[in-house]
Formats: sequence, C-alpha cells, structure tokens
Amino acid sequence: MLDKKEGQKNNFLPFALPDIGEEEIELVANCMRSGWMTTGPNAKQFESDFAEYIGSDVHAVSVNSATSGLLLALEAVGVTQGDEVITTPYTFSATAMVCVHLGAKPVLVDIEEDSYNISPENIKAAITEKTKAIIPVHFAGLACDMQAIIKIARENNLKIVEDAAHALPCTSNDQLIGSLDTDATVYSFYATKTITTGEGGMIVTKDEDIAKRCRTMRLHGISRDVFDRYTSTRPSWYYEITAPGFKANMTDIAASIGIAQLKKANDFQKKRQSIKEQYFEAFKDLPITLPKDSESNDIHSWHLFVIRLNDDAPIDRDEFIKKMAEDYQIGCSVHFIPLNFHSYWQEKLGIDNDSFQIAKNLFEKSVSLPIYTKMADDDVSRVIEAVKEILSP
Ligand SMILES: *Cc1c(COP(=O)(O)O)cnc(C)c1O
Repeated sequence: MLDKKEGQKNNFLPFALPDIGEEEIELVANCMRSGWMTTGPNAKQFESDFAEYIGSDVHAVSVNSATSGLLLALEAVGVTQGDEVITTPYTFSATAMVCVHLGAKPVLVDIEEDSYNISPENIKAAITEKTKAIIPVHFAGLACDMQAIIKIARENNLKIVEDAAHALPCTSNDQLIGSLDTDATVYSFYATKTITTGEGGMIVTKDEDIAKRCRTMRLHGISRDVFDRYTSTRPSWYYEITAPGFKANMTDIAASIGIAQLKKANDFQKKRQSIKEQYFEAFKDLPITLPKDSESNDIHSWHLFVIRLNDDAPIDRDEFIKKMAEDYQIGCSVHFIPLNFHSYWQEKLGIDNDSFQIAKNLFEKSVSLPIYTKMADDDVSRVIEAVKEILSP
C-alpha cells in the first residue's frame, strides 16, 4: 500500500469540482463577443429553459445566488419585521440569515435522524401567532416530507419557500421539486452545486405576482429589467423606481454557463447515482450508517454523500477526515456545522450546541465523501479502498 500512497502524493482528489465542458466555454465566449455582459438574452433563455425543465407552467427568475433568491422569495411572499420563519439548524447559514435581513426571526427546529431533514412534527410544535413561513431544506438532495409540510402550511396559513440548493433534480412522490404546491423554490448554482454558473441561483414559482415582485426587487426596484428597458418602445434612458429593491440579477455571462449546464443536469444526476450505488455496495459491512435513499421511484440528486461513523467505528470523525487527507490524499467535508454551533446564532437566538440533540449527534459523526461527475472510475475506487482500509475492523 505504501507505494500506492506515495504515488498519490501529488495527486490530491478534491472534495468537489465543477464539470465544465467546451459547450460552456463556447457560450461564454459568444456572450463576451456579443458585447452584452449583464442580464439580457442569455438570462431570458436560461430562465425559459429552466421553467421548461421544471414544467407545470412555473415562472423562473434568475438571480446572482441562492442566498439572494431566498431573500427575494421571502420578501415576495410577505415575510417582514417581527415575523417568525421556521427552518432547520442543519443547513448553510444563508437559509436563516436572509430572515434576519428582512427583520424576521428564524425559529430553528430539530431534524429527523434518518434523513437529516426538518421534522414536520417539530414544525407543528413551533408554530405561533407570529409564524409566517417555513423554509424546508432538501438536505443532500433528498426531498423533505413535503406532503406533511404542505398540509401543516395549509392548516396554519403559512407560506413555504423551499431551499432547493441541493435539489436539482429531486422528486417528492414522483413530482419534481420546484413543481409542488409551495410558494417558491430556490436553487443554487454555486461552483460545487449539482449544476453551476460560477455563482448564481434561480427562483421558481407558480405565482405570477411572486415572480413579478422578485423581478422588480432583484434590480433596484425598477419595474422592468434592463433587457426590457433597452428593447421596449420607451426611450432607452427611461426607468422608474417603484420599491426599495436589491441588486441581485444574474449576468448573461453566468447565464450562458447555466444554459449548457442545465442540458446536462439529468446525466450528471445519473453519474452521481452510479457512484452512490458503488459506495452502497462497497460500504455495506463497515461500521457506518449509509445515507437514507429516496423512496423507490423518487429521484435523489446525490449532491452530497454523507456517511455517519457508528459508535463501534475504530476512529472518530475528525481523525477519519485527517487520515483521508494525509494518508490517502482524498478531500472530505462536513455538512453542516449546525447553526446552533455558531457564535452569531447562539447570541442572536439564545441557543447553544445542545439545543438540537439530533442535529448535534449527526454533526459529530458525519462526513461527506466526494461524489461528483468529474470523478473517474479510478477515483471512485480510490475512495472506496481508503474508506475500507480506515474503517475495516
Ligand atoms: C449553497 C447553499 C445555499 C446558498 O447558495 P448560494 O448560491 O451560494 O447563495 C443555501 N442553502 C444551502 C442548503 C446551500 O447548500
């Protein structure tokens, strides 16, 4: 084994990499040659391609990040000063931070042990007169229990904005996330997400008013976007500010990457799923808990592959990650450091490391292994061998 390890010294396998082909490069080059850099024809094209991909007559609004998308979607559904928004501690900070920026209070509730997703029972128990909305996060690309969450929202007159940063593509009861009966769904195209535009995001909604509000608010509160402004019959210098908007539009350079990436989204998912199948087969006798799979026909995006070290594993989580990096030159990660472990959230919400027991237990034992389309078969085998060597009794 030593020789093999030596050979891998200058051959570090990163935890994640984007998958950019010549198609993306050519569309970016075309965009730059065209002279139109900011929001324009490519953003329009990406939005209509995306809406068509999701189906069900949705509107798609492109933005510069999922963080901006979540902020705009929550603003558009009416989240404001003094409201409470129920979400999970087991997410990236942005999910909850956007609530703070709207003057609302994120109310965190513990997750389900098997799925890492927000628990509908806990959502129910946390509803107060101030509750305005719920933000379910489809962790790793496995859908939350959306039937239960939608029922709770209906019964209590709450809005739902889905954080689908991991969930392209992902289904719940055979229905694509983005096409469910919720108020809005937000995707991320950050560099390491399932498809990328470098940085970027998309808001999807069936509600025309929400789409319209998001379009206005993503660009300074101007009632129509730049593209319309420069192609409409009004004089080209004319615009009108109608609301206290933000600056969150997607550039045409980014959108051109997205146009090519979206065409590959299903093939990318299949590739990640095939890596997942190899991992499931190879790891079944190890002292680890494998991630929860989707129900029979449902699509799991497999954005992340999160294993949990059992109590009888020979080493702990931190040692495991160190060994993977130092002895095998393989990058791993941890998703997520729960929000209640961060000093800001502890002070802001009066919570601590022990506030959510399931989140805490899962966090301390969880490791994300590499699972991305740029991995060669050899890379997958390398991860499998390393994990087996480290964890076999
Ligand atoms: C990546 C991520 C975000 C933020 O996405 P950006 O496009 O980087 O703003 C939000 N929520 C979750 C769960 C994420 O993983």
